[in-house]
Amino acid sequence: MMTIQEAKEKVCEAGKLLLKEGLVARTWGNVSIKVSDTQMVITPSGRKYDELTPEEMVLVDIYTLKYEGKLKPSSELKLHCEVYKTRPHINAVIHTHQLYASIVAAAQKDVVVLNVEHQKILGAKTIKAAPYALPNTKKITVETAKAIEQSNAALMSNHGVVCIGKDLEDTFEVARTLEKACELFIASKKQTA
Ligand SMILES: [Zn+2]
Repeated sequence: MMTIQEAKEKVCEAGKLLLKEGLVARTWGNVSIKVSDTQMVITPSGRKYDELTPEEMVLVDIYTLKYEGKLKPSSELKLHCEVYKTRPHINAVIHTHQLYASIVAAAQKDVVVLNVEHQKILGAKTIKAAPYALPNTKKITVETAKAIEQSNAALMSNHGVVCIGKDLEDTFEVARTLEKACELFIASKKQTA
């Protein structure tokens, strides 16, 4: 695992990359890296990603939600914590509102992953959609963690997606692949309609 300082730099960079790659709009979405069995570094709440600095990243205890930092952690930190508890071997979590996945999430449908390469990266043939619940509630965090038990991504109905991996690079690859898989899935539905 990396040091807290390294993680802060990586998470900050990742926030900017999310914006650049079009995986989030404005400040929506958040990134975290696990730095020990009980701690993660996460993007702060309410900051524009293009202005982020590493010092603004927030160190959070996964079990108590206590944090250290100048700014408050992302309001969706509970989601990250619950995912780390459910999948102890993963080290990075990205939550986005990326376009194609959000379209499928708005339909509250599971994604059938049609491409075999995509299945490998996403770790499953179907990406589940957690049932709709209000943001930042116990229900949404528990349901989303349940939906990601057997795969590297899950949809959150009417909201967005969560992607996981052994490191941040891996997790970005999952997020990009999920976009492609959702685009294909939507196209396949149009053909049969
Ligand atoms: Zn969100």
